[in-house]
Amino acid sequence: MPEIVPLPAFQDNYIWTLRDAKSAAVVDPGEARPVKEYLAREGLTLVAILATHHHPDHVGGVEELVAMKKVPVFGPKGEPIPALTNPVGQDDKVEIPELAASFSVLDIPGHTRAHVAYYGLGSLFCGDTLFACGCGRVFEGTPEQMLHSLTKLAALPDETRVYCGHEYTLANIRFARTVDPHNAALAAREERVKQLRDAGRPSLPSTLGEERATNPFLRCSEPVVVESANKYLGARVANPVQVFAAIREWKNKS
Ligand SMILES: [Zn+2]
Repeated sequence: MPEIVPLPAFQDNYIWTLRDAKSAAVVDPGEARPVKEYLAREGLTLVAILATHHHPDHVGGVEELVAMKKVPVFGPKGEPIPALTNPVGQDDKVEIPELAASFSVLDIPGHTRAHVAYYGLGSLFCGDTLFACGCGRVFEGTPEQMLHSLTKLAALPDETRVYCGHEYTLANIRFARTVDPHNAALAAREERVKQLRDAGRPSLPSTLGEERATNPFLRCSEPVVVESANKYLGARVANPVQVFAAIREWKNKS
């Protein structure tokens, strides 16, 4: 099974890199430089690029990498992914034979119109849809779509490792604690993540079990989260989509 390594990019992006002794595939290369440096340093050959959505901080490096080495570029059909060779959507398979890796594609629209996730090897690459203890902003879809996408991801097994696109975890946890103040698992998570970040280490991957227990955006039916949404709105709502929309708006303003 390939090793999965984070390559930091920009301020807080991760380019997730799957590698063995010879080959590497990258997920969401927003810039080419960290990938090129890593490949050169480790003596690896690039074999595939996977894109979750079209935002420049996720695909900005694709063209430069493809110019260096012509490899398949997987990405959502229906989004302008540079140098896309293999447009994919729900239930398509992504095979990377050099790494003996296979992924299923899940459509998870909301952050962007056709955002996808890649699930395989017990791992989930979910771009800017599900974050550790948070979720992406709803730019091109509706809150209903985004909640549906998050619910779909939340149905994967507890032990699934969650590799998202940004190191936002600590700020997300701080917000989550205002929404879900008495959650002991969340308090424990804050301590764990603080220690990791103080040591200069990524807070990722998390697990889906951990997300289900602590991520307020996956807990829109929990009475305490509903109550907090109501306080924020100054109105009574109980429908999970309304609760989700309320805490998403609250997080945008916080
Ligand atoms: Zn994005």
